[in-house]
Amino acid sequence: MTAFTAAVVGSGPNGLSAAIRLAQAGHRVVVYEGAAQIGGGLSSAALTLPGFVHDPCSSVHPMALSSPYWSKLPLAQHGVTWLQPQAPAVHPLLDGDAVVLERSVEQTAAGLDPVDRAAYMRAFGPLARRWSELCADALAPLGPPASPLLLARFGLLAGQSAAGLARRLFRGPRAQALFAGVAAHSVLPLDRVPSAAIGLMLQLAGHAVGWPLPRGGAGAVSAALASILADLGGEIRTGVPIGQLSEVETDGPVLFDTGPRALAAIAAAALPLAWRERLLRFRYGPGASKVDWALSGPIPWSDPAVRRSATVHLGGHLAAIEAAERAPWEGRVAEAPYVLLVQHSVVDDSRAPEGQQVAWAYVHAPPGDRRDLSARIEAVVEAYAPGFQARILARHVRSAATQERLNPNYVGGDVNGGAADWDQLFTRPLVQARPYNTPDPRLYLCSASTPPGGGVHGMCGFFAAEAALQRWPGPGARRVRALR
Ligand SMILES: Cc1cc2nc3c(=O)[nH]c(=O)nc-3n(C[C@H](O)[C@H](O)[C@H](O)COP(=O)(O)OP(=O)(O)OC[C@H]3O[C@@H](n4cnc5c(N)ncnc54)[C@H](O)[C@@H]3O)c2cc1C
Repeated sequence: MTAFTAAVVGSGPNGLSAAIRLAQAGHRVVVYEGAAQIGGGLSSAALTLPGFVHDPCSSVHPMALSSPYWSKLPLAQHGVTWLQPQAPAVHPLLDGDAVVLERSVEQTAAGLDPVDRAAYMRAFGPLARRWSELCADALAPLGPPASPLLLARFGLLAGQSAAGLARRLFRGPRAQALFAGVAAHSVLPLDRVPSAAIGLMLQLAGHAVGWPLPRGGAGAVSAALASILADLGGEIRTGVPIGQLSEVETDGPVLFDTGPRALAAIAAAALPLAWRERLLRFRYGPGASKVDWALSGPIPWSDPAVRRSATVHLGGHLAAIEAAERAPWEGRVAEAPYVLLVQHSVVDDSRAPEGQQVAWAYVHAPPGDRRDLSARIEAVVEAYAPGFQARILARHVRSAATQERLNPNYVGGDVNGGAADWDQLFTRPLVQARPYNTPDPRLYLCSASTPPGGGVHGMCGFFAAEAALQRWPGPGARRVRALR
């Protein structure tokens, strides 16, 4: 017997959310983190020069602001300030003005080709207005929806490929390019179902809650989650990679903020071989090959509109992004890859010494790719911002292979905790009624490899904790209202 009544392996946003929910129910929780610092994909670090604060992974958090669970947590009281750029995202074009994803649906439509303005407002307006209702169903495991008609309306658009939807809804290149750039966050080939679903969710979030950045870096959010957990009596131990179940000091439930393969290895003695073999068949997609920069000044974009947002999609028109995003699934990196860039300093002057800036960018690369792709990324940025390379003071490069070495959850560099294709978006890590449960009633999976999948929102952790609490209600439970 130990003092802890529950444990969580891994302190990413899902692990910390699971730990907080268990602690709210009265459990005495310990969190084990293998890395030297907490947060997993939600952290900040000094990667280049003194005075520059970088985010090794996530930076832009529309789903954090949309999270039904986090909306009930006192993140602001624990130090989180969300900074909203003027526009959620911007998509510059080399042959015309930038297309801007504005907060307002109407204003976004006004920047599109005239032929698409009405179609854009019809498709996005009604869903954006009911965003929180949509999130209650879409950021949850499969089950009877609370708003079936709304979900059906979303599903009519979402259940197809992003390229298919863009061509069906829009006739002009501007709306098609904007949607392709957003849908490329799915890391799926854009002609594959359901890449449209992820594009729609992110674009709708842009209208409903914006694409904000936390002041001071992503680490501010995990620090706040850790502080909330500490107030509830939880404990976090860093630098403790768990290799075997016997290392976990509780007789109660153990929740794994790890990949399915890691769960199969760590809990091998407790789980039937046939079930572990099913876990091992979980599939991953391409990786992210990233570069963080310390810059001597702002990125000198040719089009000044690009300064209106922190998030910049560099890929050109729909067909070009489609080709670029197919390449890593075929073992290649496109000559002109789609580049996802974040310029934090547009909204946050705390990230770099006065007058200087931080930024990062990544491209999708074949799983486990070991190459330094920074030259290819920088050439793309230079095309849209002549003089950019001259402003680089220092760079920090992470190949797809390095992502996995630094965080075992990013297998092959996959940032979404596993391919979010049709077979795995809703039924992660495998097809079963209760996605978080294992055959051992003590063990649960709570990472982005469970529904609703990748991104910073904590909902995988919340629902896994709810699953555990059904069997292990906390001593002296202080129940928060169930969300479904
Ligand atoms: C380059 C990059 C950019 C991204 N950008 C964004 C973005 O802008 N917005 C967004 O919403 N999402 C973004 N993401 C995705 C987001 O970071 C992840 O989806 C999210 O962090 C997943 O949370 P998680 O809790 O499931 O896992 P993780 O955040 O990966 O955390 C898992 C934790 O568990 C620890 N761990 C694993 N195994 C063990 C073990 N055996 N013992 C102890 N500890 C262990 C790991 O060290 C890690 O700290 C990005 C990811 C990357 C890599």
